Amino acid sequence: MELTGLQIFKYTPAGKKEEKANCKECGCPTCMMFSLKLAKEQINIEKCPYVSEELINIFEKGKKHPQKTIEIGNLKIGGENVLYRHEKTFINRTTIAIIVDCSLDKYEEKITQINNYEINRVNEILKTDLIILKNYKNQNIKSDVPFITLEDLKKYEFDFIKEEDFQTTKNYLINCRTKAIIDKDDSCSKPTCVFMKNSDSFSICARAAYYLCKYANMLVFEDFDKEMISTLLTLRQNIFTDPQKTLQVESGLYKFNNPDKNSIILMTTNFALTFFAVSNELESIDIPSYLIILPAQGMSVLTAWSAETLTAETVKETLKKLNIREQINTRKIIIPGLISNMKEELSEQCPDFEFIEGTHEASDITNFVENFIKKE
Ligand code: SF4
Repeated sequence: MELTGLQIFKYTPAGKKEEKANCKECGCPTCMMFSLKLAKEQINIEKCPYVSEELINIFEKGKKHPQKTIEIGNLKIGGENVLYRHEKTFINRTTIAIIVDCSLDKYEEKITQINNYEINRVNEILKTDLIILKNYKNQNIKSDVPFITLEDLKKYEFDFIKEEDFQTTKNYLINCRTKAIIDKDDSCSKPTCVFMKNSDSFSICARAAYYLCKYANMLVFEDFDKEMISTLLTLRQNIFTDPQKTLQVESGLYKFNNPDKNSIILMTTNFALTFFAVSNELESIDIPSYLIILPAQGMSVLTAWSAETLTAETVKETLKKLNIREQINTRKIIIPGLISNMKEELSEQCPDFEFIEGTHEASDITNFVENFIKKE
């Protein structure tokens, strides 16, 4: 059972109102802090000599991993601890694998097709994870996508499932994961690998999407169908993204429409959604520009400012790191309107630049930039 910090707190001396409450021997200022750290596995339970036997027993049970992890090269499969992502997070993405039959004439063509197909979504390149070679006779395989022979795959300790019909497979997967997580049933601890039954692309895509949600660890397909792979990769990215981590892009200097040394400069944070909203606007107007992306732990502008991640100091360091003063002549930097109150502080920290209050919304950037250029 996964315990929250508050649940753990009840078993500590402070939670039980005992004499040793908040004694600091564990290195934490309070029992509550110890409990919160323990829940996040940032401290060892042995650090508190006064914790109750009851909690130690619950913890021992909780330490047992419900699902095994299988590693094929760099691919990690299984190892899940929860039934729902909102409880904590999912660990390893469902592997998407395609079978290539090496006895067929066009097998190399299929490998090339799999290798060449990728989608870029929220700054992440997504593609098929694994090629499974059937009837492999020592041919020379050229593939960047990892591959394994069917015989070798079968040596791993998967729970191999041949899809019969949707209801049976769906019920089996749900039952298996529930038993593994809730009952810690060892007989259900193997990661599941479903060999999909071939059918029309609409039906196979719908079934696979369901299994991806609940609860296949690996899905294996006979055919390579771009539309289906794209759908599954997109769905998978959404499900397996850690809700506690925001999507972010690399901080740095981004260029739009071939800017030169005198082009305008804008600035924002590295929150992916902010980046894409702003860069879409800058791409769409026929004006060369630069966009400075500040490192802000993936926070949006206002959140980063409130959390003191976006400070005048961060801006100063970023401008220096990116060598802006030396590589661009422009001295005016357009900042998000939401942080216009930072202008004075920014001017003090970065006296070589003038900071111009920009828009609150990305959708207003086009008008703002056009008017700004006219005035300059
Ligand atoms: Fe509380 Fe135990 Fe830490 Fe003391 S050692 S502060 S009792 S958790």
